Amino acid sequence: MNKALIIALSKGRIFKETLPLLAHAGIYPQDDPNSSRKLILDTNHVDIKLLILRASDVPTYVQYGAADAGVAGKDILLEHGGAGLYEPVDLRIARCKLMVAGRVDDDSSPENIVSGRRLRIATKYVNSTRRYYAEKGQQVELIKLYGSMELAPLVGLADRIVDVVDTGNTLKANGLKPLEHIVDISSRLVVNKAAMKMKHRKVKAFVADIMQAVVDGGSKPR
Ligand code: AMP
Repeated sequence: MNKALIIALSKGRIFKETLPLLAHAGIYPQDDPNSSRKLILDTNHVDIKLLILRASDVPTYVQYGAADAGVAGKDILLEHGGAGLYEPVDLRIARCKLMVAGRVDDDSSPENIVSGRRLRIATKYVNSTRRYYAEKGQQVELIKLYGSMELAPLVGLADRIVDVVDTGNTLKANGLKPLEHIVDISSRLVVNKAAMKMKHRKVKAFVADIMQAVVDGGSKPR
């Protein structure tokens, strides 16, 4: 696969919303990752392969050059830190917001210290959260979670959570409300810095095609 162009993607929303952009670039996967167990998908080009990864692993595969390029949410990239990556295109897909949320009965001001102790924040976005509160000059206690963050304030594990929010329905369904907007999120095309030099032509052409796909707004007929 050395000479092939390897593109890392995650299943679900990112895969679904990246498909029209790939189609615009003339790239069609031969399998659907939602029905196939394959982790390396062939495409209609013998020299273009897709890797199906957990979303948070996409920047790592691209950083180390195991993939030449990938699609990752800005939330994931902010956590990763961006080492070894170029981020040439905002794909404007999988849009949402990174937010602080709390219980619907949370009427304390965001800066409040709850009953004399530091505010406790549960999140999987520990780096972004630490940075956000540090910039506000607020000392908080962070609790790292890997999922179902909404549960934490309900059972007293944390006062608040930091999570990505789209419609807000998940927060609402769990008796939570958005409190503070941290940053707007969308998915980005990322490229391995070395691949940009060593596979210059192939990678550059791919980046240009995807950029054009974003400008044109998605797929064109086969
Ligand atoms: P919501 O539409 O706010 O109810 O979002 C539903 C769930 O999907 C939330 O718990 C988020 O964790 C997740 N989510 C929403 N948008 C995105 C996105 N663009 N990327 C990753 N996760 C998302």
